[in-house]
Amino acid sequence: MKTALYWFRNDLRVTDNPGLRKACEAEKVIAVYCFNPKLYETTAYGFPKTGPYRTRFRIESVRDLKQQLKGLNISLLVAIQEPYTVLPKMIRELGITDVFLQREWTAEECEERDAVQSAIDSSISFHETEDGFLFHPDDLPYKTVSAIPEVFTEFRKRCEKYCSVREPLPAPLPKDATNLLAITDSIPELGDFNFNAIPPEPRSAFPFSGGSAAGRDRIEDYFWKHERLSFYKHTRNGLLGTEYSSKLSPWLADGSLSVREVYAEVKKYEKLVVKNQDTYWLIFELIWRDYFRYISRKHGNRIFGPSGIRNSTDLRPSKSNYLQQWTQGETKNDFINANMIELLKTGWMSNRGRQNVASYWVRHLKQDWRIGAAWFEYLLVDYDVHSNWCNWMYNSGVGNDPRDRTFNPDLQASRYDAEGRFRRLWLQPTLFDLNSQA
Ligand code: FAD
Repeated sequence: MKTALYWFRNDLRVTDNPGLRKACEAEKVIAVYCFNPKLYETTAYGFPKTGPYRTRFRIESVRDLKQQLKGLNISLLVAIQEPYTVLPKMIRELGITDVFLQREWTAEECEERDAVQSAIDSSISFHETEDGFLFHPDDLPYKTVSAIPEVFTEFRKRCEKYCSVREPLPAPLPKDATNLLAITDSIPELGDFNFNAIPPEPRSAFPFSGGSAAGRDRIEDYFWKHERLSFYKHTRNGLLGTEYSSKLSPWLADGSLSVREVYAEVKKYEKLVVKNQDTYWLIFELIWRDYFRYISRKHGNRIFGPSGIRNSTDLRPSKSNYLQQWTQGETKNDFINANMIELLKTGWMSNRGRQNVASYWVRHLKQDWRIGAAWFEYLLVDYDVHSNWCNWMYNSGVGNDPRDRTFNPDLQASRYDAEGRFRRLWLQPTLFDLNSQA
């Protein structure tokens, strides 16, 4: 008899989950999710790898996943332990024959998998599913990943011409009720990670909460109720409020929404409401997301190195340390400070803000880009290894855009925050002075 273990990592959903469907072909299926304590340790830079915002979101996503799986008569075991201690024990005690998981390729995810594999009997089969992409790797118009171009536009145009997006898959059929295990484990709380409860922040751009149900609610509101998708390209550089962009990134990052489900929803909207430049632009951005996934697959761990995917860098980090000023929003520039305070207080920052603060860190303050990327990794509610590190490389001149992308924060502020509303929101009114720029 086949007994499958589905190991959830960054694919926290039951619909459009091809690996889970395969696992469900076995007679018995059990699922597991591990909050790996390693991901909560303090980095060499003196702050943790994962902060409270993403932790809370993950907890909510895992809670929602457990409910979804219960509806399929599948038990989800949840642990705050390294997978290599949890999985081998489960495999032994529950007579698991096959382990299913989504394929990942970045260093920490591979280490996790390798540690589990080396702790279990070699007769246990590991099945890794290619997932998480808009354009499936098998459908790409490139023979090998190494043939993927370093220029986004080339990639996009070729994929748009020769590749189609697969239809989202329904959830697997429910297993028989006898598949459920009699377990009484609970989902961890924020305090289990030594974080205090997060105080409500009325200035927050979006009240994020994790899980597929909340992700679908957001699609419902942004697409169907408010029809903001019809204006997306015109508003996406905004800084204030819930509606300037889709805010779907946290659900896409932990996989509680699948990118193909979002794509299918855009296509449906284009049929039923309107098809225009704005609706296309959301797809355009989803292709950026895919592109960075492929760039990280192509270049492996080089995306974490000082020169990124270039062979050398002109960036020479200065000896001065500006970490405190930049991270706490205490630099000489109000626009940068407002964005950094938003990140600190909510785990969120707009795309416009991210580009500006990254440029400021690397070009104005002449600091090591990897420390900036690590700070984002710590705080962002939507942190995604590929999008974060590849965007940081891109903005720092060591990625897919070797140009000097220096943003002038004063010009940016006058363009995107002309009336100073965003800065007023996040800065103490007494400190805020439109004339005191760097
Ligand atoms: P929308 O504008 O509504 O876009 C829809 C979706 O397209 C997003 O949810 C996202 O999945 C994708 N997308 C949009 N822009 C980009 C982009 N530049 N690169 C890759 N995908 C994109 N995004 C993350 O998801 N996680 C990160 O850790 C992350 N770190 C970043 C770091 C820096 C320095 C920069 C400049 C950008 C980073 N981004 C990251 C990309 C982008 O800022 C966010 O995806 C976007 O702001 C999320 O808001 P949204 O969901 O409302 O996006």
